[in-house]
Amino acid sequence: MTTPVRTHPAATQALLARLGAAKVKTDEATCFAASFDNMRLSFMPEAVIRPDVEEDIGIVLKLANEHKVPVTVRGRGTGNTGASSPIHGGWVIHLDHWDKIEIDPISAMATVQPGAITAHINELAAEHGLFFPPDPSSLKYCSIGGNIATNAGGLRAAKYGVVRDHVYALEGFLPTGEKVTWGAPLRKFVSGLNIRDLWIGSEGTLGVITKATLKLVNKPKARRTFLLACRTDEGALEAAAALMGARVNPAVFEFLDTQTVEAAEKRRGSRVFSTAELHGVEETHAILLVEIDGHPAALAEDAVKVRAWIAQYAVAFRETDVEAEAEALWDIRRTCSQAMYALGNAKLNEDIVVPFRSYVELIRYTREVRDRVGLATPTFGHAADGNFHVHIMYDRDNPEHCRKAEQAIYDVMKKVVELGGAITGEHGIGIAKSPFLRLQHSPAEIGAMLAVKRALDPNNILASRPDLRAPQRLGASSGQGHPRLDKH
Ligand SMILES: Cc1cc2nc3c(=O)[nH]c(=O)nc-3n(C[C@H](O)[C@H](O)[C@H](O)COP(=O)(O)OP(=O)(O)OC[C@H]3O[C@@H](n4cnc5c(N)ncnc54)[C@H](O)[C@@H]3O)c2cc1C
Repeated sequence: MTTPVRTHPAATQALLARLGAAKVKTDEATCFAASFDNMRLSFMPEAVIRPDVEEDIGIVLKLANEHKVPVTVRGRGTGNTGASSPIHGGWVIHLDHWDKIEIDPISAMATVQPGAITAHINELAAEHGLFFPPDPSSLKYCSIGGNIATNAGGLRAAKYGVVRDHVYALEGFLPTGEKVTWGAPLRKFVSGLNIRDLWIGSEGTLGVITKATLKLVNKPKARRTFLLACRTDEGALEAAAALMGARVNPAVFEFLDTQTVEAAEKRRGSRVFSTAELHGVEETHAILLVEIDGHPAALAEDAVKVRAWIAQYAVAFRETDVEAEAEALWDIRRTCSQAMYALGNAKLNEDIVVPFRSYVELIRYTREVRDRVGLATPTFGHAADGNFHVHIMYDRDNPEHCRKAEQAIYDVMKKVVELGGAITGEHGIGIAKSPFLRLQHSPAEIGAMLAVKRALDPNNILASRPDLRAPQRLGASSGQGHPRLDKH
């Protein structure tokens, strides 16, 4: 555990006096619980505030500006980048108990508070034949506020889009403490500058979201799942491009490279496809998981196309439209994240994006890095939109491994940008990606971002981070004394 960078005892006393000890917690256990996210890098805040009513947030932010106290907003702390970690100490506004959800089935809209769990929105929407398409793998634990603040993606993003495509309106507070509403619960709204979209994906740096109106869509009537093996990573990625070219629009299209499949099969203790199914070929293979959904008639047409594609590219496959059997086909995809720990006790997990034309070059580069630095680089992800999770597996107790892992991930990021890609497709920047921001953006672009930040947050109160200051990596090898608890 660490002490805060700079403490603000007088300000915290003033806050306690305004809101009371029931809403403002300063005990070590509460502060520690709010000190890290899934990046597991701990920065202790001085106080954790659980507001009762919206006015409380205005009071907190106004006091913070008066006393120059850093403030970080926290959803449910599942972020992978340290974005909800209070890197400069100060106060954390914790909104996980703000979890009301109202569904309007006529307008196909959901009005939600930011702490609502994403899966709960879908459970309520389903009662009306509707659903909220963005489905991060963490949807049973993460909050809609965190999803909006990171512009989260998910398995169905290629067909249905990301969070930004499903937000009509946001309410909340400017960093300076004034209440604002961006957009409206309307299907059309083009009045004024679109600051709603600026807030989406800004990782809690430009405002505190207190309410959102979301777009829901009709729940698809049927789905069909296919799991197929391809001999090589390159073969699977070429197949992926071919399916998209065949004008099939899969709802899910996941790629697992040979390193990932090998690790996942070890964890399961069995192979996904039998040797007989693989025509006697024992060596490892890459896997593609495809799901199509929609009206049964359209689905039948697409299924014909998918089978023709499988015949051309796959060495083995299975398919089903039975729910329980589909779960079995999903098992390998659900296993792969944890399975990687067989390859190292820690991982750097990135969420880069590359264009279709660069899929093969990217996967070859990950293997080149593996061979050069001697650390496994299992890669899996969303083949329909080029958003791949490249991992560097290492031993966190081995300083040489830590150094090599950090260098390897820097090299991967540089390559991604050279390939015309993006350093992040869904997790955001936070602390983890701050060293790479300048690989992606020109000084003029960073300058424009800083100008927006200064205009909305003149005292740099909300979630001020190294990404909007100097590029630096805070981590195991940074020597900054922040305990890395466990890199997921
Ligand atoms: C196992 C696992 C799988 C994951 N899979 C995916 C995936 O498929 N796709 C994906 O996109 N992400 C994924 N994630 C990452 C993470 O779940 C998402 O980033 C999620 O959106 C974070 O939500 P949260 O409530 O945990 O937010 P937090 O981690 O608490 O916060 C995330 C960011 O949102 C800001 N924030 C939170 N609430 C507010 C608010 N009310 N107002 C302003 N800012 C706010 C925080 O300040 C921070 O910058 C995964 C994480 C895990 C652990």
